[in-house]
Formats: sequence, C-alpha cells, structure tokens
Amino acid sequence: MIPMTRPEMGEPEAAAARRAILSGWVTQGPEVAAFEQEFAQAVQAPHACAVSNCTTALHLALRVAGVLPGHEVVTVSHSFIATANAVRYCGAMPVFVDIDPATFNIDPRRIERAIGPRTRAILCVHQMGMPCELQALVEIARRHGLPLVEDAACAIGSAVLWAGEWQPIGRPHGDVACFSFHPRKVVTTGDGGMLTTRHADWDRQYRLLRQHAMSVPDTVRHASDRVSFEHYDQLGFNYRLTDIQAAVGREQLRRLPGIVARRRAIASRYRQLLAAVPGVRAPAEPAHLRSNWQSYCVRLPADVDQAGVMQHLLDAGIASRRGIMCSHREAACADVPVHHALKHSEAAQDGCILLPLYPSMTQDEQRQVVDALAAACRAAARPKAADAA
Ligand SMILES: *Cc1c(COP(=O)(O)O)cnc(C)c1O
Repeated sequence: MIPMTRPEMGEPEAAAARRAILSGWVTQGPEVAAFEQEFAQAVQAPHACAVSNCTTALHLALRVAGVLPGHEVVTVSHSFIATANAVRYCGAMPVFVDIDPATFNIDPRRIERAIGPRTRAILCVHQMGMPCELQALVEIARRHGLPLVEDAACAIGSAVLWAGEWQPIGRPHGDVACFSFHPRKVVTTGDGGMLTTRHADWDRQYRLLRQHAMSVPDTVRHASDRVSFEHYDQLGFNYRLTDIQAAVGREQLRRLPGIVARRRAIASRYRQLLAAVPGVRAPAEPAHLRSNWQSYCVRLPADVDQAGVMQHLLDAGIASRRGIMCSHREAACADVPVHHALKHSEAAQDGCILLPLYPSMTQDEQRQVVDALAAACRAAARPKAADAA
C-alpha cells in the first residue's frame, strides 16, 4: 500500500520524548520554551507561542485580533473545516470568498467586495503549503485597517519572494500566523500548534489565554522562593502543548530543511511524469512563491469520475484524497450565509485529487502512482453523451 503520507520520525524523536518524560516536567515547561525559540528562529519571527493544535491557535489568533460575536471574518470555504470553525468559536461568521483556481488560494480580487461594516479580520489560508499572494493581502488589510491572520497549518518551510529575498512563511507577513503539527502536515508532534506574531502584546495575550488566563504561570511559581497566589482576570482556555510533544518538535525542526528539499524534489518529478498523462494537470508554482508541497493536488480530466479514479487507485494499493473540502457544503456550516459565488472552490473539491507524497517515497513508488493514475483515468472516463444515448 502506498499511503498519503508517512511522518519522518525515528530514534531522535523517541530519545527526545524519553528525555522529556524522565526530566520530571512534562507539560509547557523548558522543552516548550526551547521549541518556541527554535521555531521563531526557523521562520524568522519575533515571537512564537506553542499551543495544543492549529485550531486552538486560530481561535486565539482571531480572539486576540478582536473578533467578537456579531463580527465577520473574510476567509475561504475551500479549507479544512477548522478554518471556519475557529471563526465560529469567536461567535463570529465567516464570509466565504472564492479561490484562484491556479493556486487554490484566496483570490485577492474578490476580498474587497466581501468587506463590510462588521468585518473584523481577514483570514487567509496557505492551502496545501502554497503561500497566498501576501503582498496583495497585506495591502488590502492595511487599506481597510483589518488584521491579517494567516492559516499556515500546512505551510511550515514554504517561502515567498519579498523585497527581493526569499522569506519563510510565518515571519509573519500579516499580523499572526498559525501552524499545525498534526501528522498529516510537514513536521509533527502528534498534535500541536504554534502562533507567530509581530506584536509583543498579542504574544503576551496568547500566553495568558492558553493557560486559563492564569496571572502567574506554574513554571514561575515553581522556580520562586516566595509564596505567591495567581488570579484569573478573564475567561481563559487550556490550550497547552506538552513538553513531550515539544521535545519531539525540536527534533522535527532539525529535519525540516531536508524534508522540504525532498518534498520539492518529489513534486518536481511528479510534474515531469504527469506531463505524459493526458488531461491531468499538475499544480502550478508561481515564480515568486515556494511551496513545501504539503499536499500534491492534481486536476483530473473533465470527463472522468473522481470517485471512480480514487477507487481504481485504491484497488491498485494507492491512497488518494479528494480535492480540499468546501466548508459551506457541510451541515456544520448550514447557518453560514453564502453571499459570493464559490464555483472555483467547488470545482477544486470535485475535480481534483491529492496524490501520495512523503520524503521517503521511492522513484518506483512515484512511477506506480502515475501509471495507476493514467490507467484509472482511462477506466473512469464517463461515457460520452452520444454513447450514453
Ligand atoms: C490541518 C489544518 C488545520 C487544523 O490543524 P490542527 O492542528 O489539526 O488543529 C487548520 N487549517 C488548515 C488549512 C489545515 O490544513
């Protein structure tokens, strides 16, 4: 079986988890602090705050950006449902706009008509690791005085050409970026998340809110020779990352450059191999954007049945997934009004599939995937109207 992904983990991660377990301090302690520092360095961010996952990171990011009940957040439907859910956790409504079919990311030209008097933030998604058009997004956000929140769940190790140099996603270019360490992403801690921001006061609020809004953290009380009592001045959350996870994350960060280089080499070979498969379109990478290829999304020929292609692949021992979901089509979002056409989002969900891609993938496995895809497209071609009649 060729899976969608295989986490790159081994003895260094196991030893790191062991080290944390035997240290006597297993949650949000010294390993988390070190992970935050090393992560900030890796993405060139002034501040990094670790949390339990990217969904909780998005919740804190939006909340601290000032998103409250009655507000609206301009974002995409074409994303994992956590993006829309985080807006709902704040009591706000997502306002969905369509994607640019070339990059699967929010189309900057559609944002301004979705901004209204209740808009409180723009939430862009670097979908599947491909950076958004950040320059345009930052300009729109500035012009309207709105914070720009980046859902960078998939985008660690991706980069944009900015002011003449390649800059990592997460500096951040907007106001705050949120990352995921779920096993389906490029590096993993089992579960985990990180917020990076340019605002020192936002970072302080994330640290407070992730631990019940406790005024004196346990680490501080533990290290103090004076008795002190904490207080709780607002509603907080338990969004802590454990030291066991952070220790693993530090090892994963060391692997990041190698992982991204491998993923890019495999993506580049996919592009070559797919050129020989009629009708299948490989994803594009604009010259000013550099993807980590967290997911490799191909567009199927118009006349094939998506589920049929995926079933053929599965029968051949190859995993695949449909295109990225559209949140507005889910019952969970039934009460979210749709004011703007989402036809490119829907077409991407229905007409694309994601292919396996992981650093340890062999050339032989890649060849098998592409050969099976070619056969699957032939077999799953829908009968032409004339034949069907
Ligand atoms: C995976 C993902 C999330 C959620 O990340 P978790 O760490 O699982 O909470 C959010 N947004 C996008 C775009 C994702 O792909």
